[in-house]
Amino acid sequence: MRHYAIAAIPADGIGPEVISAGIEVLKALTRQDPQLKLTFETFDWGSDYYKQHGVMMPETGLQTLKNFDAIYFGAVGAPDVPDHITLWGLRLPICQGFDQYANVRPTKILPGITPPLRNCGPGDLDWVIVRENSEGEYSGNGGRAHRGLPEEVGTEVAIFTRVGVTRIMRYAFRLAQSRPRKLLTVVTKSNAQRHGMVMWDEIAAEVAQEFPDVSWDKMLVDAMTHRMTLHPQSLDTIVATNLHADILSDLAGALAGSLGVAPTANIDPERRFPSMFEPIHGSAFDITGKGIANPVASFWTAAQMLEHLGEHDAAALIMEGVESVCVRGILTPDVGGTANTAEVTRAVVAFIEAKA
Ligand code: ATP
Ligand code: MG
Repeated sequence: MRHYAIAAIPADGIGPEVISAGIEVLKALTRQDPQLKLTFETFDWGSDYYKQHGVMMPETGLQTLKNFDAIYFGAVGAPDVPDHITLWGLRLPICQGFDQYANVRPTKILPGITPPLRNCGPGDLDWVIVRENSEGEYSGNGGRAHRGLPEEVGTEVAIFTRVGVTRIMRYAFRLAQSRPRKLLTVVTKSNAQRHGMVMWDEIAAEVAQEFPDVSWDKMLVDAMTHRMTLHPQSLDTIVATNLHADILSDLAGALAGSLGVAPTANIDPERRFPSMFEPIHGSAFDITGKGIANPVASFWTAAQMLEHLGEHDAAALIMEGVESVCVRGILTPDVGGTANTAEVTRAVVAFIEAKA
């Protein structure tokens, strides 16, 4: 018996809807393969918890999560709680506390989904964006002086370290090496930002020496948006800073048809701590409670979780199920369909059960 303990944190907005859908699909896998055992413990942390307790999660939260094999996360953010509280109170402390420095964001056009670009169909866009997840523009450094006065100054300091950049670069080169095209694009903004970004370029060139079989190139982030849109076929694996990759992966999600299909894995590559798996999208309060949230991102990230746990067959089965359901047009409204969350979920569960 292969047993994995999963901590589920559905949190805010559509998070609970897509995470419970994902758990149904994961449970279907355990019926399909009786040697696979997944146990789930659900934590009610998030904005509602904050309103009751004044914190997004208990002080002992990380200590509790440490005992799990993986974390399955929904979304944070609520209209009546400031973003810096929701984000810095739950998601970021987990990423930072568990040193999940590699944020891995695969994007492809799923068969059956019509992407917004005329020049692009299934197979034309198959990327993995690696986002540096521990430092850079989101390191929390900076401040405000002369608050509210005409001479007020606010700074947002991006900090990059040689250790931080080298380890994400190695991760990205290794990932590119494992993919058929062995192709990596390193994104910076080293023409206008003259310090940390130039260091990124230099470290990329150094690490590249360790991977002679990987072809790589450099792009400025502005030119990168142009290339992603006009020449999506020319890209494969992409590595960028915390901020740049955050923005590029929203673009990637949109180019693939919807944010509702885009997954993300926050990985501790050294496996000292549990890694965390979540949809890229936020809490989407505009559709919360309507039962129409696209659960595909949540299924796909469940597949990433199984992949990370070494359950490659189970991961592949989820993705086969997702593709089969998409091809048959069982799609939520964000990707042009009329199905609801429950119908998509049932269809994926039925696909998995039929394989038993
Ligand atoms: P955050 O600040 O947490 O990133 P946001 O305000 O950027 O949140 P998202 O929640 O990311 O908003 O959603 C952006 C848009 O995409 C919304 O219109 C939302 O309805 C839509 N969307 C996001 N996720 C899904 C999904 N799973 N299914 C359908 N539509 C979605
Ligand atoms: Mg957003």
